[in-house]
Amino acid sequence: MSEEISEACGIFGAVSFDPGTDVFSYLYWGLLSLNHRGQQSYGFTTLRKGKFVKREDLDLIPTNPREVESLAASLKGSAGISNARYATSGSSGIKHLEGGKQPLVVSSGNRSIAVSYNGNIVNTQKLRNPLREKFGRFKTDADTEVLAKKLLLSLDENSGNYEEAVAALLDEVEGAYSVMILDSSGDLFAFRDVHGIRPFCFGKKDKVIAFASETPALDINEFEDHEFVEAGELISVSKNGSVKRSQIRKPDPALCSFEFAYFSRPDTVLNGTTEPVYKIRESFAKSLATSNGERLRGIDIILSMPETADDAAYGLHEATGIPWERAVRKNRYVTRRAFISGKSNRESVIDKKMNIVSNLVRGKNVAVVEDSIVRGDTTRINIAKLRKAGAKKIDVFVTFPKIANPCLYGVDMSTYGELLGAKMTPEEISKWMDADSVNYQTIEGLVNAIGIPQDSLCIACVTGKYPTPEAQKLADEIRSQFLNGVSEGGVRIYEKEDIRRRRRPSC
Ligand code: SF4
Repeated sequence: MSEEISEACGIFGAVSFDPGTDVFSYLYWGLLSLNHRGQQSYGFTTLRKGKFVKREDLDLIPTNPREVESLAASLKGSAGISNARYATSGSSGIKHLEGGKQPLVVSSGNRSIAVSYNGNIVNTQKLRNPLREKFGRFKTDADTEVLAKKLLLSLDENSGNYEEAVAALLDEVEGAYSVMILDSSGDLFAFRDVHGIRPFCFGKKDKVIAFASETPALDINEFEDHEFVEAGELISVSKNGSVKRSQIRKPDPALCSFEFAYFSRPDTVLNGTTEPVYKIRESFAKSLATSNGERLRGIDIILSMPETADDAAYGLHEATGIPWERAVRKNRYVTRRAFISGKSNRESVIDKKMNIVSNLVRGKNVAVVEDSIVRGDTTRINIAKLRKAGAKKIDVFVTFPKIANPCLYGVDMSTYGELLGAKMTPEEISKWMDADSVNYQTIEGLVNAIGIPQDSLCIACVTGKYPTPEAQKLADEIRSQFLNGVSEGGVRIYEKEDIRRRRRPSC
């Protein structure tokens, strides 16, 4: 999808059992491998002599050698966690983004913890009030603070026992969360919501253990093998070298299927699968080829909107023998940061970002491969460019089924009104885009290509069936208002409760 839908966060953490070894190098390369999951801010927190040291800022993780050396010099310590963040709720104003930077350090009595998490909490408002009574006013607008304080409260109520405290948290906090906690004692804890909606893996090498959103962050650090933090599992890592895995709540897996189509890196292996994501994207296209044999007849060339649809385009080429022309090229230096100045500017940036080699397209019947369609404006602009370049016929093949429902679990598509698929049929979308046809993946094709049973995946943005109850209730309510013509006012659906009081950025 060339329209730059954003994910909530990328997380990476490491502990060395050799107290003389600094982990910053692991953190840096690990987080840099996850920058695609969040570009609004970054943060590193290490523990040195019982005190947290933090370095954080807005924007991308620095690559300038002087800045990296400065980070390395200040972030000494044998344990640390980090975060690359995108806010999936709340204002995108600077103040809110500053407040939401992670890792977040919170304290109660003698206990201090640093928290880095990926996901989105659905029932924040319900959780806030008792926490306000205990801890006073919230210092930030981020739901990371809600999660962190909930854990502090739970630890107080369970005499500092992490297994019991996290179990209580899993019972009460609804949403998607892959979480790392660095305790000021030097121990690190990693846990995942009972549905395991967002990815989370770990690896061990010599005397180091590391946790990450995606496996390439372990690969780049030369961790040879990786395992997964399971849904409802807590992994406790003691600074003395013991690692304890505890399945503290029964897992009810619902891994985000959109990770396979768009978010995760192509070289990532997600839990429940053995093949890298790019192979699964090829299979998505093979499934599209099977269900659209007639439509593909007479197609001269396959084009992909780079770069997330490239693997699927290759898969379609493999399945059909139709040439795949890399005739659409992206200028990577026209960045998303140029998007912030309003719609017309955003459209002109999209227009400037893609270039089409006209003589390869002129007079041809073209199959355009897209990984997904959310708002659709980018696809529409690119189709206009293909028409201008002289394409005779344009059929669009979409590897993810029609998205008609918002995500409440950390992907920034959170109102019905913004979703093309909530407002139009495929035929209407095709007409709106000036394509000859728009052909979506089937749910069956998606599930078969991923190779995980449908009841262990989240496909809520397609089916409207959410894996958690509050999300289902909220979505049903707003959907019925939406169908009755009541405007959402651009408010994300999990913020409806909060909106009169405040706006809150999440992870
Ligand atoms: S609703 Fe869609 S994007 Fe959100 S977690 Fe589920 S599958 Fe992923």
